[in-house]
Amino acid sequence: MKVRVNTDLCQGHNRCYALAPELFDIDDYGSAFAIGDGTVPPELEEKAKLARDNCPEFAVELEK
Ligand code: SF4
Repeated sequence: MKVRVNTDLCQGHNRCYALAPELFDIDDYGSAFAIGDGTVPPELEEKAKLARDNCPEFAVELEK
């Protein structure tokens, strides 16, 4: 599974980072981005889904 942040949608609420700091980081402008190439290790897949489900802007995208 891979995670990415749609930067056109992200409004910088930082919920993703609060929920899954292993997967997201925040840039100098407060927008989130996926760490590394966005690969989600199996043990973090539930956290990735949680972040997606809690992003108010639907900016967190998961792909298999
Ligand atoms: S929760 Fe959504 S809107 Fe907020 S920083 Fe993360 S991706 Fe951006």
